[in-house]
Amino acid sequence: MYDIEKIRADFPILSREVNGKPLVYLDNGASAQKPKPVLDAVRMGYEHEYANVHRGLHYLSNVSTEKYEAVRGTVARFLNASDPNSIILNSGTTEGINMVAYAWAMPRFEAGDEIVLSIMEHHANIVPWHFLRERQGAVLRWVDTDAVGNIDPQKVIDAISPKTKLVAITQLSNVLGTVVDVKSIIDAAHAKGVPVLIDGSQAAVHMPIDIDTLKPDFYALTGHKLYGPSGSGAIYVAPERLAEMRPFMGGGDMIRDVARDQVTYADPPMKFEAGTPGIVQTIGFGAALEYMMDVGVSNIEAHERSLRDYARTKLDGLNWLNVQGQSSDKAAIFSFTLDGAAHAHDISTVLDKRGVAVRAGHHCAQPLMEHLGVSATCRASFGMYNTTAEVDAFVDALELCHDLFA
Ligand code: PLP
Repeated sequence: MYDIEKIRADFPILSREVNGKPLVYLDNGASAQKPKPVLDAVRMGYEHEYANVHRGLHYLSNVSTEKYEAVRGTVARFLNASDPNSIILNSGTTEGINMVAYAWAMPRFEAGDEIVLSIMEHHANIVPWHFLRERQGAVLRWVDTDAVGNIDPQKVIDAISPKTKLVAITQLSNVLGTVVDVKSIIDAAHAKGVPVLIDGSQAAVHMPIDIDTLKPDFYALTGHKLYGPSGSGAIYVAPERLAEMRPFMGGGDMIRDVARDQVTYADPPMKFEAGTPGIVQTIGFGAALEYMMDVGVSNIEAHERSLRDYARTKLDGLNWLNVQGQSSDKAAIFSFTLDGAAHAHDISTVLDKRGVAVRAGHHCAQPLMEHLGVSATCRASFGMYNTTAEVDAFVDALELCHDLFA
């Protein structure tokens, strides 16, 4: 049984009030709250076990190295990736995708080469490709959503041309909540010899991920959305792509030897982890993934899907609310506007007065906003600890907005 009260008790922040009301935290899509095991791991890391990793021969350095390195295996287990050495630890998805752009794509793209993207991408999976467009003449090919916010995998496959060097696509939209059938896209792209990068920042939070079945070339994660510390994350890189990548950042830890006129590099994954990493953040990230696996990612998925259905029924009853993205296969993420002149920022301010935290703006997805014909939306994004009572509190606060702004 999914013991929601026990889970909520693990997240100390959930018992606080905001503006004199119980906190209803619905901004999980931006960043999730942290359970006690993560807070404990971070405290322990700094209070009792702190030293730099990899370089020391003393006790504390060995302890922190062991704990840090163990996270590679935890991420691999979480993603069902058989080889921990295919996991590069980093500060999150933005770093992961930029690494792919610099380390893998830049050396192989020529003017006119194409990247296929969906219109739902987060800027983290757009701007690095604009760098290739600006600097090397790469062409970005966009695949739009349909009327309910779905991406038809066949449209992505059809957008692949002989010039396509990469498909870069999200598995779950941070704005619409839509789940993309990335397995069909990966299989078809591979049949055409085209590698696929999956932005898993949102998907990995809401559903089990199986790298050994999906077989992506790159799969990017971000720790702070997975109930871990900010500044933590990882990217899975398939062995063939790992062998093709040149180093991205240079510095300590990623080398074998450095001389005046030459340098040789460490083997992957260290080759792609230059400098002192986010040691304690990464250890906390490992604790977050362990926590999710203890609860069971399938259990989290089932809980959130029932919240989604409950919220959907309630929101459908508000005929002045415009919810963007009505796919039947979506996570509990609702982006909306209200009929009338109220701006998303005003709506979120009113909700905040009722203790309800949502995000307002373009959600780092401006091409999608343009496609939807809106400049901004409010977004309520649910997590593993949210409840149907919180859906009710959210709906009550929306009704207050409607009374104020209608
Ligand atoms: N991709 C998606 C789909 C996201 O939702 C986000 C964060 O909002 C990112 C990428 C970027 O993640 P980060 O800022 O942690 O690097």
